[in-house]
This record gives sequence, C-alpha cells and structure tokens, in this order.
Amino acid sequence: MQTISCPHSSSKDLVKNGHSENGSQRWRCNTCRKSFQLDYRYNARKQGIKEQIAALTLNSSDVRDISRRVELFNFIQFITL
Ligand SMILES: [Zn+2]
Repeated sequence: MQTISCPHSSSKDLVKNGHSENGSQRWRCNTCRKSFQLDYRYNARKQGIKEQIAALTLNSSDVRDISRRVELFNFIQFITL
C-alpha cells in the first residue's frame, strides 16, 4: 500500500512522472503541480536548507552569521546522508 504524499502540499493526489537519472520514481502532484522523487527525504532536506538560507539572506544583513549557519546546515546534511 502506497502512502506517498507530496512534500510540498501533503496531497496524495499524485501521478507518476517518469524516473530520475538515478532510477528513482518521480511523481507529480495534481494539487500544486510540483514534481518530486519517491525518495524525497534527501531532496526535502536540501530544499529546506535552501529555504532557510534564503530566509536568512532576506531577514539578516549579518553575512558572517549567515555563513556560520550555512556551514552548520552543510555539516548536518553531510553527517545525515
Ligand atoms: Zn503538492
């Protein structure tokens, strides 16, 4: 039984959308029209980091603070892969 849901909208209204180059099933969400991979945990984390960096960039002018946080995110990503 599949319990896949969209990492963007949590919708379960999904259609198959081919495969990525590493063979992972890709899906497209009928609710928000975004596509994602079945093993989306890595991508979700990656996207979360990107969003957090973007938010930091928008909300802070302290470049040293941003770079320190980015280094921490990269470290967390490295040890959890
Ligand atoms: Zn969605």
